[in-house]
Amino acid sequence: MPAIPHVAILGAGPIGLDAALACADAGWPFTVYEAADTAAANVRAWGHVRLFTPWELNVSHRMRAHLCDAPSDGPCPTGTELLTRLLRPIAELPALTSRIRYHTRVVGIARTGLLKHEQIGTTARAALPFTLLLDTPDGEDTAEATMVLDCTGTYTHPNTLGDGGIPAPGERALAHRITRTIPNTTDPTHWQGTVLLVGAGKSAQTAAATSPPSPAPGSSGRSATLPPTGAWFPTTPSPHARNSSTSPRR
Ligand SMILES: Cc1cc2nc3c(=O)[nH]c(=O)nc-3n(C[C@H](O)[C@H](O)[C@H](O)COP(=O)(O)OP(=O)(O)OC[C@H]3O[C@@H](n4cnc5c(N)ncnc54)[C@H](O)[C@@H]3O)c2cc1C
Repeated sequence: MPAIPHVAILGAGPIGLDAALACADAGWPFTVYEAADTAAANVRAWGHVRLFTPWELNVSHRMRAHLCDAPSDGPCPTGTELLTRLLRPIAELPALTSRIRYHTRVVGIARTGLLKHEQIGTTARAALPFTLLLDTPDGEDTAEATMVLDCTGTYTHPNTLGDGGIPAPGERALAHRITRTIPNTTDPTHWQGTVLLVGAGKSAQTAAATSPPSPAPGSSGRSATLPPTGAWFPTTPSPHARNSSTSPRR
């Protein structure tokens, strides 16, 4: 019989939490490493956005089996509702809560005792455990695991705008004025001046659909256009718009 693995789950987002439930169901020891102070921190970051999928498509069979009062109908939730009504309660289940290490970012993974070019593709390499390098509030730490599930998502790795996925010429110089996530446009003081919306992915479409209407000609308000390809960025300097936006293409 194969040995029971000790599983390291990287990230307590929707996928990491479902993986944790699968490990708990299988009786496998596991640890979830979560960089933030909460489960589903990336979902929290876009909490103002309403999902395009209804509850029944957001709750896995496994989540529903563990959380019998998980939402099952009603309008599509916002990210905040997904977090507070499903993902945080899942993370607080007795089977999971003591297994999640918050404020713990995994910054490196290696096969214990081997460099990355050594014994590639061999059963000897596959038999070795993993060593994880962790950033914790108390400094660096290491941990071991025999199986690693990378559930860290893509939210903090948005696409760049250039052809083939490399930065477009000039994009890096404008990085401080580009926001690569869907902005919360309900704040009327934040997005002033002209805003150029670039992109044709779902995030760009959402940003376009939720942005206020274009201002009258000559007014100091905001306007948005949607060329066929990426991002929000102010075309006129504005102190409020400096942190500004491109959505990860989903
Ligand atoms: C605006 C927006 C709207 C969306 N709407 C929908 C929708 O309607 N329907 C749908 O099905 N999907 C939707 N999605 C996609 C869906 O949210 C994602 O596919 C889902 O959140 C992915 O889950 P995940 O667990 O893989 O990653 P994430 O949700 O990104 O979670 C990753 C977790 O890993 C943690 N982490 C990251 N790096 C590390 C590290 N090195 N060490 C430790 N922890 C780390 C993060 O803090 C985070 O908690 C939407 C996404 C966005 C951005």
